[in-house]
Amino acid sequence: MNPRAVGRWQHRLSDGRTQCDLCPRACRLKPGQRGFCFVRSSHDGVIVCDTYGRSSGFAIDPVEKKPLNHFHPGSSVLSFGTAGCNSGCRFCQNWDISKARDWDRLGAEASPERIADVACQYGAESVAFTYNDPIIFAEYAIDTAAACRERGIHPIAVTAGYMSAQARPEFYDAMDAANIDLKGFAEEFYRKVTGTHLRDVLDTIEFAVNEARTPDGGRVWVELTTLLIPGYNDDDAQLHAECAWIREHCGRDVPLHFSAFHPAYRMADVPCTPLETLVRARSIAMGEGLRYVYTGNVHYPEGDATYCPNPECGAVLIRRDWYRIGTNRITGDGRCPDCGVSVAGRWG
Ligand code: SF4
Repeated sequence: MNPRAVGRWQHRLSDGRTQCDLCPRACRLKPGQRGFCFVRSSHDGVIVCDTYGRSSGFAIDPVEKKPLNHFHPGSSVLSFGTAGCNSGCRFCQNWDISKARDWDRLGAEASPERIADVACQYGAESVAFTYNDPIIFAEYAIDTAAACRERGIHPIAVTAGYMSAQARPEFYDAMDAANIDLKGFAEEFYRKVTGTHLRDVLDTIEFAVNEARTPDGGRVWVELTTLLIPGYNDDDAQLHAECAWIREHCGRDVPLHFSAFHPAYRMADVPCTPLETLVRARSIAMGEGLRYVYTGNVHYPEGDATYCPNPECGAVLIRRDWYRIGTNRITGDGRCPDCGVSVAGRWG
């Protein structure tokens, strides 16, 4: 057994089972059993991350694709993931990876150090843990993040945020940035459509935004994404409530991305999100006082652009066409060149 793959969050129960404390599912496993995520299992009473050191694929992407619009715009990212997931989303857009039961899909060898070296070779400024949720391979993601930081590369988590309070500090302190899904704002939606719970995700978001710290004591940069599914999470009341919560608990500067749903997995009969829905959601969010609100998965340049947050200025600062940067006028110290107001983000 690879000692680095031993689960860091677990405890023995009096009945002989071992409880995984990594996510709120708290799976209680007998020797030989697998957790809900399928990729953590009990080896003679010790829970192990079975996908440690194995990748389902690599790609070089623009950071905007994660999506992160305020984190070193235009830079490239080495994206990688493993297999399995601890959510049960009926609309999963990556279900071939998240529900993978075929271990042969995974590459044989991708140590944390090797991934960081490959990122250097390709000139990537960041490595993103993505495709499937890095929570379930937290030990592997944390070790890879450390190897990346040693080489001056930023670790990024792309996650649904369904994580235990115990595991959050070590995981988020290891990241320089994160995009966290806020899939809706109703517990019933979360329970029925994602198989998870809203409260746990909100707690994760608050922790990541307000408490997580990088080694120099700075904050982890966080952006949020809501995939809008027609008839499920796109009503005005839910959108107002979500945006008001973000404003109150995370502040107005956390960027929010509304992205378009495409029929997939167990929701193949639900239509695509119309552009008007994304435009309406963006308008509601800005009306609630959020400063940086984007649309995604659609061609809508107005919703791709970054604007000066000064209401008396409002200049276009970054123009994007899908994931491609057209112009970037933000100054080196992160300000609007017209009025000098600071723009939240990591721009260096
Ligand atoms: S990470 Fe996997 S094994 Fe652990 S509690 Fe969550 S679903 Fe269960």
